[in-house]
Amino acid sequence: MTASLLLIIAYSISPYSLLLQRRSSSSINPTIQQPVAGGGGEEEEVLSSEQYSCVSRQQLHIIRSSYSSSKPSPFLLSRLKEYEQRHKRCDPFSESFNRSSREQPEEKEDVELDCRYIVWTPVNGLGNRMLSISSSFLYALLTNRVLLVDFGPDMVDLFCEPFHNSTWFLPRDFTFKKLLRREEEEEEQKKEMPYVASLLQLFLSYDNDDYDKLFFKSETQPLLEKVPWLVLRSDQYFAPYLFLMPCFRAELDRMFPDDKETVFHHLGRYLFSPSNQVWGHITGFYDAYLAKADRRIGLQIRVFSLDKTPASLILSQVINCIQEESRIIILPNATTTSRNRTTTTTTAILVASLFGQFYTELNKMYKEWNEKAGATVVGVYRTNHEEIQVLGSSSHNMKALVDIYLLSMCDVLVTSPRSTFGYVAHGLAGLTPWILQSQDIEDEEQRVKEPACRRGVSKEPCLQFHANYYDTNPDHREPGGPVPVIMDCEDFQYGLKLVNRRV
Ligand code: GDP
Repeated sequence: MTASLLLIIAYSISPYSLLLQRRSSSSINPTIQQPVAGGGGEEEEVLSSEQYSCVSRQQLHIIRSSYSSSKPSPFLLSRLKEYEQRHKRCDPFSESFNRSSREQPEEKEDVELDCRYIVWTPVNGLGNRMLSISSSFLYALLTNRVLLVDFGPDMVDLFCEPFHNSTWFLPRDFTFKKLLRREEEEEEQKKEMPYVASLLQLFLSYDNDDYDKLFFKSETQPLLEKVPWLVLRSDQYFAPYLFLMPCFRAELDRMFPDDKETVFHHLGRYLFSPSNQVWGHITGFYDAYLAKADRRIGLQIRVFSLDKTPASLILSQVINCIQEESRIIILPNATTTSRNRTTTTTTAILVASLFGQFYTELNKMYKEWNEKAGATVVGVYRTNHEEIQVLGSSSHNMKALVDIYLLSMCDVLVTSPRSTFGYVAHGLAGLTPWILQSQDIEDEEQRVKEPACRRGVSKEPCLQFHANYYDTNPDHREPGGPVPVIMDCEDFQYGLKLVNRRV
């Protein structure tokens, strides 16, 4: 168990009044309801003192319930509630967990198969990780497993515990070797059928091979059901593919009966409440710079290689997108503005990027603009600029999470293609983003692409790498066959995403 888990961080609630004013007329009420599993009607439950210690959960719940148009279905709520009970029954403090992870093979008979686990392990950046955690959780809901996470020191301080009165952390001293050793002993038994392994490692990353992809076959699932421990290494949002698998389709349709574009939105919001420390940074920044504006625009500028595309080109593309293509920013002319100064609407632009120069240039540009207009019409802000991506750093990940959350609190989002960082931001927000045209493809002429950006087709993240077992083309479907809820991603060749209707 990590020390951070046991720490109750002394935290003073930030002055969040402006945000509350904008989003809602409600005030912070001491009998706040639990976020999703307990949110609404009979399911409502008063928060425990432990949950009170997660400030973001309380505040986000109030803010979101006042403006989010999308509500989780009653069936999803009941499955989440059921999940929480299972998690509590099987979590690392439980006797069932002890029995499941015991070394002695003779104990295997006693293992309560009711407690079967999927252990998530980290790979790649934070966006990738949040997407694969939410997919693993959906898989756990569908297969009655318990999700545990093997966070390293770079992740333990990012989020609050998601499950009521329980922990999702795999104990620090837990070692899979125990289970693997048991598996070695089982080698001997392999000849005797049926043989069931204790542990199976699943690789569902971008570089998975044909063997790994067997996971996505409906026929494989009954075999996996018998394995108590699945250890997952994935950087993918594989949830959309579960909708294609006949074995899960009916259950998923009940969980998400109307709105297929809210899968990550609901699961991500349920799982990822920023820790008090991260939330302090988020609210501090929001109150200081974004709350007062009439409109917040999030620009996520992810550059995979500045060598291939100069920053000046990307900047022109961003400006073309927000001013010409999407007309997200329509600049009033100077005379009109000064005459109607009192009615001028103000726009705050949040620039999230590893690289500082985008903020610097946009800030300069709109400053000049404001001077001409005689009023602060557009304000440009950023939280940080790390300049390089760092793996394994807690403070770097915290800054990344602050940016993701602030983006998700904007009213309009412009995101970069192929970036899971952007997917998470618009998924949490529940917004369909404007997606910039791909910048990395080498362009001899080095010209600004046209159109500079396009409106996305869905609020959902894209599954970039997957198997090809099921026909994803809705035109090929049989009458009464699978609903056309999957289509190609706008920004990733052969990628798939959930949509409500085909565009
Ligand atoms: P992807 O590579 O764009 O799909 O997104 P990931 O989140 O998986 O990996 C990129 C990583 O780079 C992030 O997790 C951050 O560590 C860092 N990063 C990229 N863009 C930003 C940004 O706008 N702000 C901050 N703070 N970090 C960023």
